[in-house]
Amino acid sequence: MVPASNNINLHVEDRAKRAMLSGNATPIMTKPICYSTKAFSTTSPESPLSAAVIERRVPTATDVQIQIIYCGVCHSDLHFARNEWNFTQYPAVPGHEIVGRVTAIGSGVKKFKVGDTVGVGCLVDSCRTCADCTSGLEQFCLNMVMTYGSTDKHLGSPTIGGYAQSIVVTEEFVLRMPSNLNLAAAAPLLCAGITTYSPLRRAKVGPGHTVGIVGLGGLGHMGVKFAKAFGAHVVLFTTSPKKAADAKRLGADEVVVSTDEAQMTAQAGSFDLILDAVSATHDLNAYLNLLKRDGNLVLVGAPEKPLPLAAFPLIFRRRSISGSLIGGLPETQEMLDFCGKHNITSDVEIIRMDEINTAYERMLKGDVKYRFVIDMASLN
Ligand SMILES: [Zn+2]
Ligand SMILES: [Zn+2]
Repeated sequence: MVPASNNINLHVEDRAKRAMLSGNATPIMTKPICYSTKAFSTTSPESPLSAAVIERRVPTATDVQIQIIYCGVCHSDLHFARNEWNFTQYPAVPGHEIVGRVTAIGSGVKKFKVGDTVGVGCLVDSCRTCADCTSGLEQFCLNMVMTYGSTDKHLGSPTIGGYAQSIVVTEEFVLRMPSNLNLAAAAPLLCAGITTYSPLRRAKVGPGHTVGIVGLGGLGHMGVKFAKAFGAHVVLFTTSPKKAADAKRLGADEVVVSTDEAQMTAQAGSFDLILDAVSATHDLNAYLNLLKRDGNLVLVGAPEKPLPLAAFPLIFRRRSISGSLIGGLPETQEMLDFCGKHNITSDVEIIRMDEINTAYERMLKGDVKYRFVIDMASLN
């Protein structure tokens, strides 16, 4: 349970308190009143995640306090926990596929009430005034505040993710969850879902389009579901032929084994868009040749090292290659509403919080169908 904000152990930073008592009128940045909540954190790249107690701010006027019910496990969580992107500050708490229930709201909150089922994705704040923010593209704001790995605007310390009992987020960055969806299976929509929905939507994928999805993992399996729901002919590319039956169950019309040259050649020049969700080193040029004139290869996987790129396949058929990053708040809500309407969720395996370290090892081996989701009740 998340402690209600009125019966928890409150404390104020001593420095500020002393200044107040001494009548010092100089404004001092005060640390907001905080409360303690249980979480799972890691203290170094080599350490396993383990139980910890963290602090969240008590909701300010525009904040929503959320009891976290489920949190999806994204591959980014693992990169972050192990400092593989070189910006992790420890102790680190990952988690940005958060669903839960509103337990308290600030006096100025308009969109939510206590008891609402809500979600929080990869962002918890941004500058809100730049051209990206005012266009609803907060994910590109140079001052975006990520759910974990950024600096908390209120506390000045690193932001703390969703492997925790509760989170406090400004209402503009809280999303409404459709009431008909299984909540555990809906958690991965907050990152894997929007990451694949956004580029397909932007390309106006629909009936008459042929769309390729490369890789059947956490991202790829959502790409297949969305491309199918938009009415496209969907082709799944995989290195493992044994994934074919599952890909078809998820909505793929065809499955191509990407290591089979004859199968790849047979698809040459036939795709409007290929969504590449593979983060391992692989041959991009093989996929460029499969695009039609003006076709687009969109990268959403992030290989560690730069990949070689041949210019001819781009030049001769005016093809392009691009990237895409999650989605802004309006599009993320649109995606959730779309999922509610079309009953789309992730295929998930629910785990206990203390199974997270094993889950990371299994994720590295591709041994998950297709997303781990933590049942946060197991943290009590
Ligand atoms: Zn993610
Ligand atoms: Zn901004």
